[in-house]
Amino acid sequence: MVNLSKELENAKTIGISGHIRPDGDCIGSVMGLFLYIKKTKPDASVHVFLEEPADIFSCIKDIDEIEDAKDCHEDFDIFFCLDCDKTRLGEAERLFDSARTTINIDHHVSNPGCGDYNYIVPKASSASELVYDLLDKEYVDRDIAMALYIGIIHDTGVMQYSNTSPKTVRIVADLLEFGFDFPRLIDETFYEKTYMQTQIAAQVLSECKLFCDGKVAFGNVTKETMEAFGAKSHDLDGIVNQLRLIKGVEVGMFMYELPTGEQKVSLRSRSYVNVAKVCETFKGGGHVRAAGCTVSMDVDTALSSILKCIEEQI
Ligand code: AMP
Ligand code: MN
Ligand code: MN
Repeated sequence: MVNLSKELENAKTIGISGHIRPDGDCIGSVMGLFLYIKKTKPDASVHVFLEEPADIFSCIKDIDEIEDAKDCHEDFDIFFCLDCDKTRLGEAERLFDSARTTINIDHHVSNPGCGDYNYIVPKASSASELVYDLLDKEYVDRDIAMALYIGIIHDTGVMQYSNTSPKTVRIVADLLEFGFDFPRLIDETFYEKTYMQTQIAAQVLSECKLFCDGKVAFGNVTKETMEAFGAKSHDLDGIVNQLRLIKGVEVGMFMYELPTGEQKVSLRSRSYVNVAKVCETFKGGGHVRAAGCTVSMDVDTALSSILKCIEEQI
């Protein structure tokens, strides 16, 4: 386990980042750690780098302090890589590489650890849970608790997915002691969808196809559809889970086309297919029940190649 207070002791400049296209856990863990370090080291210069978070996360304190790594050329004393390995940091990878000390906190099975110090626990529900482990609980306050809580509910599907452990629930119990309005947070950051997001999901679901005797459900969104709806990647969150929940389906497969023409693939499984293994074949990764990859193929080729890999496990 990383000794956070010892590593931070002599650090004057500290940078924190997480993966590209940040999800709730990435944002929650990064912001939770950011708020904690600012509070415990008021004299240090602390910077947080992420791609622009979705509007739903505006309830997190100091979210507007997020910076674009492109504009930064500092060699930090310590740099944290959260919820991924350094190859998924995007622009911030450069800052990670030039830092004096690096710390990697993650829960992806596919990550062997890329820092001078690593806290990688594949069975943890989320990076947010791991950040909580490392904090001196005396300094945790309502704002830090709320950020980490958001991270945990996003990666566990509101404590529903199999990555939820008794420990996760105990941490959540500690966090709820701070008395924030959790039903509102769950609704507004997890379940609520805009009209546009609902319409695009409806289109994908009405056109989705079943493969492997109904065990795989596939849906996709083209670049043109993204443009027509004015949709960004985070507008598609949750669709893959709806595919997975179709009765009889073991694997939900969702793809959308990136501006580069590549396909961003998301896989979710219900009970026995190891989708991290499938995605690793395509240089991606993730968890046993939730994984992703990006492939330079057209939709049909991507679909048939990935189906072939899934079939080996069905
Ligand atoms: P997604 O389908 O993109 O929401 O990703 C599902 C899970 O897999 C998340 O925990 C992601 O962080 C992880 N993941 C997605 N893409 C990759 C990748 N290329 N490499 C490693 N992990 C990934
Ligand atoms: Mn993530
Ligand atoms: Mn995560």
